[in-house]
Amino acid sequence: MSNVAIIYSRPNEMKDSRFGFSEHWALLGTVLHNVGHKVVLLDYSVERFDKNHFLALLQKELIQLIVIEFDSFTIKRSENDRHGNEIIRLVHEHYPNVKIVAYGHYCCITDKDVFNTDYTVKTNNLNDILFAVHDVLPECFQKFSFDSPDDVPFIDRQFLCEQVEFLNQNRKSTLICTAHGCENTCTFCHRQSFQSKYLSRSDESVLSEFAILQQQGFINVWITDDNFTFNLTRAKRILTALVEQKIIAEMKIAISSWMNIDEEFLDIAKRANIKIISFGIESSDEEILRFYKKKNNLEQVKRIVHYADSIGIFTVGNFIIGAPMETNETIENTFAFIRDCGFDQIHIKTLVYMQGSRIYENLPPNLKNTTFQFACKENGLNSFALNDLTVIKKKFLDRYYEERSITTKQKIEKYGIPFEKS
Ligand code: SF4
Repeated sequence: MSNVAIIYSRPNEMKDSRFGFSEHWALLGTVLHNVGHKVVLLDYSVERFDKNHFLALLQKELIQLIVIEFDSFTIKRSENDRHGNEIIRLVHEHYPNVKIVAYGHYCCITDKDVFNTDYTVKTNNLNDILFAVHDVLPECFQKFSFDSPDDVPFIDRQFLCEQVEFLNQNRKSTLICTAHGCENTCTFCHRQSFQSKYLSRSDESVLSEFAILQQQGFINVWITDDNFTFNLTRAKRILTALVEQKIIAEMKIAISSWMNIDEEFLDIAKRANIKIISFGIESSDEEILRFYKKKNNLEQVKRIVHYADSIGIFTVGNFIIGAPMETNETIENTFAFIRDCGFDQIHIKTLVYMQGSRIYENLPPNLKNTTFQFACKENGLNSFALNDLTVIKKKFLDRYYEERSITTKQKIEKYGIPFEKS
C-alpha cells in the first residue's frame, strides 16, 4: 500500500473559515483510504500552513504522491492557485521523486497543465482523478472507476474529522451532495464549463447517506447541490421520504434553490426541517435579468419569499450589481425589491466575468488575461468605479440589517436559530 497526501491549498483571498470541505478532496481521501492506502488529508483553507512542518510531514509519512486541488473563483470560494503552485514548487525542490497530480475547477476552466506536475486533470470527474493517480504510479495505485454516481462510496466523515482538526471541532456540521449541475442558462455562471449535465444520485442512495449522518449525530447539514430544486419532483420526493422515515427529525438543513418552486415544496421543506433556503434572484430589473438570461418572475419571487418567511424558513437572497446597463436607478429598484421581499440575509456581489461563463467569452481579448474580471468603469464593463460599487453595497447592507434586526430577532425567538453552534 502507498502513501498519499491530498491537499486543498490556501485560498488567494482568505475569507472566514468556510463551512465544510471540497467534495472531490473528501471523496478521493475516502476512496483511497477504503482500499488501504495511507492517506494524509490537508485543508489549508482552514488549517495554518507552515512550510517546515509541511516538509517534515511529507518526510515522516513517506509520502509518494501529492494530489492537489486547484479551485476556481466562485461565490463561496476563491481561487487557490498561488498557494497550490507554492506547494508544488516546494515539493519539487525538496522531494523531486514525489509524484504530483493537480485537479479541480481551475484546471478545467483554464484547460492548461499546472507547472511541475506529473498529471493535470482537466475534467470535473472523480474517475479521471483516480485514473491520473494510477497513471503516475501504476505499481502503487490500482486502476478502478465508478460506473454511476450511486457506486461512489459515501464520504467517510469520521475519517475527515480524524485528519482535520477544524472539521473535528465542527462535528455537528457537514455537507452532502445529492446531484451535480444545473441546466439553467445564467450567463454569469461558469459551472456549465465543467458540469454541463445534471447528474443525480438515486433516492435510495441519498436516503442511505442521510441515515448515516443521523447515526453519526450531525445536526447542521448543508445540501451542496448547485440547485437542489432543479428537478422539483425529485426534491419533493426525497424530502417527503426523509420525513416519513424520520431520518432528519433532529437535523437542520440548508439548500440552494432557483425560484422555480411552489408553496407545496415549501410546506414539504418545512416538515423536512429545511431551515435555510438560499435563492439566486440577481436583480429586479427586467433588462438586466434578460442580460443574465435569468428567467425570474418577480411577483412569484416575492410571493415565495413571503410564504417561506411566514412558515419560519430563513431566506437568503443573492443579488448582483454591475451589469453593463446598471444605473443608480436600477440599483435603487433592486434594493427596494429586497426590502419588499424581506430576506433574512442578503448577499450582493459585484458582477464578475468568470472564465467559463458565457459573458466572459464575449470580453475583448485584453480583458481575458486573468481568469476573472470584476465589472467596473475602470475596465469599461459598466459606468461605476469598482470601489463605488463596494461602498453602495456596504451602505445598503448596513442599513438593511439595522432595519431588519427586530424582525430577525422575533423570527429567531419564534422558530429558533437556523443552524446550531458546532
Ligand atoms: S441557477 Fe444557479 S447553478 Fe444554475 S445556471 Fe443559474 S447560477 Fe448557475
